[in-house]
Amino acid sequence: MMFKRATAVLALAALALLAAGQKKLPKPGWNLFSKEQDIQMGQDFARQVEQQYHVVADKTLTSYINRIGMRLVERGGLEKYPFSFKVVQDDSINAFALPGGPMYVHTGLIKAADNEAQLAGVLAHELAHVVLRHGTNQATKANATQLIAMLGGAFLGSGSLAGQLTQMGIGLGANSVLLRFSRGAESDADLLGSHVMAKAGYNPIEMARFFEKLQAESGKRSGVAEFFSSHPNPGNRVKNVEGQLPYMARGPYGASEGDLEKMKAIVARLPAAPKKTQSAQPGQPDGAAPAPLPNAAKPASVPVSSSTATYRAGGFSIDHPRNWTAAANQGAVTIAPPEGLVAQSHIGYGVFINALPAQSRVSLEQDTQTLIRSLARNNSNLRIEAQPQRITVSGAPALMSRLSSDSPYANTRETDVLITIDRGNALFYLIFIAPQPDFPALEPMFQSALRSLRFE
Ligand code: ZN
Repeated sequence: MMFKRATAVLALAALALLAAGQKKLPKPGWNLFSKEQDIQMGQDFARQVEQQYHVVADKTLTSYINRIGMRLVERGGLEKYPFSFKVVQDDSINAFALPGGPMYVHTGLIKAADNEAQLAGVLAHELAHVVLRHGTNQATKANATQLIAMLGGAFLGSGSLAGQLTQMGIGLGANSVLLRFSRGAESDADLLGSHVMAKAGYNPIEMARFFEKLQAESGKRSGVAEFFSSHPNPGNRVKNVEGQLPYMARGPYGASEGDLEKMKAIVARLPAAPKKTQSAQPGQPDGAAPAPLPNAAKPASVPVSSSTATYRAGGFSIDHPRNWTAAANQGAVTIAPPEGLVAQSHIGYGVFINALPAQSRVSLEQDTQTLIRSLARNNSNLRIEAQPQRITVSGAPALMSRLSSDSPYANTRETDVLITIDRGNALFYLIFIAPQPDFPALEPMFQSALRSLRFE
């Protein structure tokens, strides 16, 4: 009796495991853009990318990458987009796809793959981002209000869609919302990508195995960081794919579109790429110039009420003047008086708060330098006024850097005090902003706001 019952329970448990195991294939999320707009902006942005990168002309190599890509698209049953696959000469181990289809494979990725399935795995993962429309889904979530205004009529052919988006801060710069994916998007791209691989005849485990190999080497090997800074590791990649294997197309998984070793030899023989005017870090497409400033009229001053309110969300709290308003936008928080906001997206007076996830652990000095470089790309004439100083904020090691840049107010420079805080797995930062002549009067209030910062 006891034995029998135990068997029944075990059998039920096994059934339950099997039933719970199958994950539904992900679908595209909320999106204010049409599929056609994804395609249009992707083509606009592709022109920027190709000014920045050297596209490899070798026919054998390009046709090999195209055969792998098209095999995935056709046999994988992916929704049709005008996909294109180009090889760009860059030693970092990366590949990226723009909304609507254009994909770029770094030569560093071809060198690093152990077999064709691993290369196909990265392509399948990127293709999944395209058909799940992750880039414009993230832009939609981050900028819904502005996008509704722009797409709902104001946008009538004046300038390219990519140009309009760049002005709104949705360009291709480092940390672009279009190319820097959330962990949820990463899991979805792994899931759909591995199904596509299996259908195309590649062993889907190889994708996860390659990502885990790169992750393990990311501390020791240069050129890996770029991939993980835009595709954060969702964890347990091999295990997750293994769990779904029973529900994927059965092999044989021996697909081959050519000889990978021969392709590596072609890559090794490529002459040095001609120098491009590259303002970005390698691996970070960045054709976007800073958005033009609105040149608004500067108010004589902004009111600061003496009583405070507390903003609390996203794992932290901070006090601010009661008449300043806090607004969250996909993880970033702006706290400003109404008079301090110019043309919606520019802060003339206020505090900007955000966090950048780290690869593995934050390196305070290095990550602060990277952040300052990325700020310099999005802000006109950014200058470092004083080298970073070590401070402690809410018990955590931090750096204070004094910067200046052009203010959104006409003919005005602003002071930007950047505080970067080592939160272990993320670089948390605040930027205190005011026109230079007004900054000293606001500084005591900024300081007491910083002292009130608490992590939960
Ligand atoms: Zn990804």
